[in-house]
Amino acid sequence: MKISAVKGFRDVLPEESDRWNWIESTARELFTRYNYRELRLPIAEKIGLFSRSIGESSDIVEKEMYSFEDRDGSILALRPEGTASVVRAYVEHSLYVKEAVSKLFYVGPMFRRERPQKGRYRQFHQIGLEVLGRDDPAIDAEVIVLIDDLLGRLGVSQARVRISSLGDGQCRPAYREALVEFGRAHVDALCDNCRRRLEQNPLRLLDCKEEGCQAVTADAPSMDRYLCAPCRDHFDAVCAILTGEGVDYAVDQRLVRGLDYYCRTAFEIVAEGLGSQNAVGGGGRYDGLVKAMGGPEIPGVGAALGLERLAMVAGETPLHGGAEIFIAPLGADADLIAARLAHGLRRHGVAVEAESGAKSLKSHMRRADKLGVRWVVILGEQELGRGAASIRDMSAKLDFQCAIPLDSRPEDFFDGLRRLAAEPVSRPA
Ligand code: AMP
Repeated sequence: MKISAVKGFRDVLPEESDRWNWIESTARELFTRYNYRELRLPIAEKIGLFSRSIGESSDIVEKEMYSFEDRDGSILALRPEGTASVVRAYVEHSLYVKEAVSKLFYVGPMFRRERPQKGRYRQFHQIGLEVLGRDDPAIDAEVIVLIDDLLGRLGVSQARVRISSLGDGQCRPAYREALVEFGRAHVDALCDNCRRRLEQNPLRLLDCKEEGCQAVTADAPSMDRYLCAPCRDHFDAVCAILTGEGVDYAVDQRLVRGLDYYCRTAFEIVAEGLGSQNAVGGGGRYDGLVKAMGGPEIPGVGAALGLERLAMVAGETPLHGGAEIFIAPLGADADLIAARLAHGLRRHGVAVEAESGAKSLKSHMRRADKLGVRWVVILGEQELGRGAASIRDMSAKLDFQCAIPLDSRPEDFFDGLRRLAAEPVSRPA
């Protein structure tokens, strides 16, 4: 019986991998330019890390975590997101002692037991970034501008940032109270989840996907009326930079992150072409998290982008630089020469595919054509006899005999090919 992959866990086949590699390398290059450095984090963590950081009443912790008992009885979880691990590592290694500001990024798989659908998987991948040690609006804006920059480089058209301010410890409690009161007044119209979480996590009301709840909360009080002056100034300063940089954004006070340590800036990036799962990424400020994880009072801001969703909305993948030369030996005797030539050229930095001498010329040509190589080096009996290959220039569709001896150094052989290409004169094969 065939064994298939687990539901919600996908294979990334070579063509898609080329795309992912392009997205990842574009992101890495950009991170370097913005002075972010990579953190490679473990995939499993103690489960308490996530219940403490993401919150007991979040969907993730309540029902989506892949957790299991290790042989020593401890309960571990496959990480559902990256921020918790970044902050754990930051505190565990006291990075704040070494540097006043840490700008970090990570790339890797995350696991959530959600209902799989287009753009939503149980193993998915995120590119994330976190800045620890800065609380000024310029850095919130920098994170968003970086993402906007990345989306531009990847040819994502029609991306838009939704942004809001969640206030802080000064002004949010009054808003929270107002929301609870509003929720209580409409409790009969709320879904079970919202009803259950109302007292504990009232901000979640605003991002409930149930139609009934959305209808009710259309009239819910809005955070912007409750923002204190410092939070208002911070938000205005973030928006001013985004405007100055030409970022397409819209203020949307319904955007929330329902956890206590999230504060001030919250944002989400939505793109067309994703269907109902239209968020490519999201992030925000989390000034209380480092302290909640046992570290000093250090502010943080960050974001995460979904790689699968980026791959769905990014422009065309630049052409993959595949093999340039195809070596076509004919007969077992030619295999040895083919191997020597192929390995020599590869060591010299040329991408080469070499086939087996057991194949026919026709089959060699068919495969070379499919690979899109520039040259086919034919090594038949005749060629071996005279000590020089026949060459087919696939782009000029020309066959010619090669004057370059088969025992020349690989670099001379390759230079010879390039010289032939520079003077494309028709020669008889
Ligand atoms: P979050 O950590 O929930 O803020 O998600 C950040 C981004 O990760 C989202 O905007 C998506 O692009 C991506 N993402 C989250 N969950 C999934 C999933 N189950 N499958 C695919 N991508 C996801």
